[in-house]
Amino acid sequence: MSNKTLIIGAGGVGNVVAFKCAMNVETFGEITLASRTLSKCDAIAANVKKKTGVNLNTLKVDADSIPELIEVIKDTQADMVINVALPYQDLTIMDACTQCGVDYLDTANYEHPDTAKFEYKEQWARDDQFKEANIMGLLGSGFDPGVTNVFCAYAQKHYFDEIHTIDILDCNAGDHGYPFATNFNPEINLREVSAKGRYWQKNDNGEGKWIETNPMEIKQVWDYPEIGPKDSYLLYHEEMESLVKHIKGLKRIRFFMTFGESYLSHMKCLENVGMLGIEEVEHKGMKIVPMEFLATLLPDPASLGPRTKGKTNIGIFAKGIKDGQKKTIYIYQVSDHEQCYAEVMSQGVSYTTGVPAMIGAKLLLEGKWQGKGVFNMEEFDPDPFMEELNRQGLPWKVMELDEDEDRRVD
Ligand code: NDP
Repeated sequence: MSNKTLIIGAGGVGNVVAFKCAMNVETFGEITLASRTLSKCDAIAANVKKKTGVNLNTLKVDADSIPELIEVIKDTQADMVINVALPYQDLTIMDACTQCGVDYLDTANYEHPDTAKFEYKEQWARDDQFKEANIMGLLGSGFDPGVTNVFCAYAQKHYFDEIHTIDILDCNAGDHGYPFATNFNPEINLREVSAKGRYWQKNDNGEGKWIETNPMEIKQVWDYPEIGPKDSYLLYHEEMESLVKHIKGLKRIRFFMTFGESYLSHMKCLENVGMLGIEEVEHKGMKIVPMEFLATLLPDPASLGPRTKGKTNIGIFAKGIKDGQKKTIYIYQVSDHEQCYAEVMSQGVSYTTGVPAMIGAKLLLEGKWQGKGVFNMEEFDPDPFMEELNRQGLPWKVMELDEDEDRRVD
């Protein structure tokens, strides 16, 4: 019997997931794309039909409403739900899935619209509900989180007895020609980069602690293969929360992302004038949230596709021990924005998120990744995922370095 797949969210990432599921239609079967704005679903479905010949069903749904979600899941008789709406909808979609007994996948952890917390607490708390409903929830199946977690699991399985330090390195060297724009949802992106930084480290007593930094306080220059040296800033990123639980022997984990000077000076200015605020303010008798208003003014990330040139490089730099010897490796993936657009009409950031979302869903539907409850990516065997990355458009490389060699160049 053929599968039925429900994708929720028709933004930049939803576009890629729709294309990639259609390109793997033998696994995904009957595919429905549902979102708040039906016309966006229809536009994606028309492009998918033109390029792949596959028909997608489209539906309107408000994913903040559990009853509406249940209706859509029942109508489509979905076997699984791929959530690529916004992190605000994670809990409602998870709850609708448990009530309908349908597997669930997302690419970003739940966030409350009023407080940016970047934590898995509320999703992990649903583990028992998922077990009782006899379903699986796969959390964070994008690139970071997602592929970066799988890279860590792959390093642990094949290269190390113990990994001591991990630096997750995220470089986007794409140029869209605008002085300021965000490559994915502006609210989510700006909340992430304007928040305080944090990394995790064990002290001399072996206790792991989170160490907080001011936004953009720590800058290092890393040399990214196929791109070159780039200023990289320490941020908090959600995959670290699950990796500190699951990677053996870990002593420190940090996350760095590259930003250009223009992006940072625009962001600082917007922050200084209050435009990154997420609390309502009164404006001429109306209540507005500054960050939401800013998101309205900025270019739609989906519109950046045809204009973006250059490459992304995301990977992990890990040091540890194998057979009593020190070892250093760098696993990374390079994507080209223009190639991504030529294939699925989206720029590289949406592409590198949407392809792993499809792969996670594929492994789940094929029974290669199985479980009952709520899981993070590194809890499964990384090998089938790594094979699919090579097959589905995200080929990766492993660089084995001398034990003390670094990719830092400052
Ligand atoms: P977009 O803003 O482009 O798209 C979000 C989509 O969700 C829009 O189509 C929007 O509909 C829809 N949506 C929002 N609210 C609702 C709702 N209440 N009901 C139904 N649909 C809704 O975002 P992206 O595509 O860039 O990002 C999608 C997800 O991917 C986000 O969660 C983001 O955090 C995550 N992400 C993960 C990454 C990773 O590597 N792990 C990297 C990048 C993104 P409408 O347009 O009609 O408002």
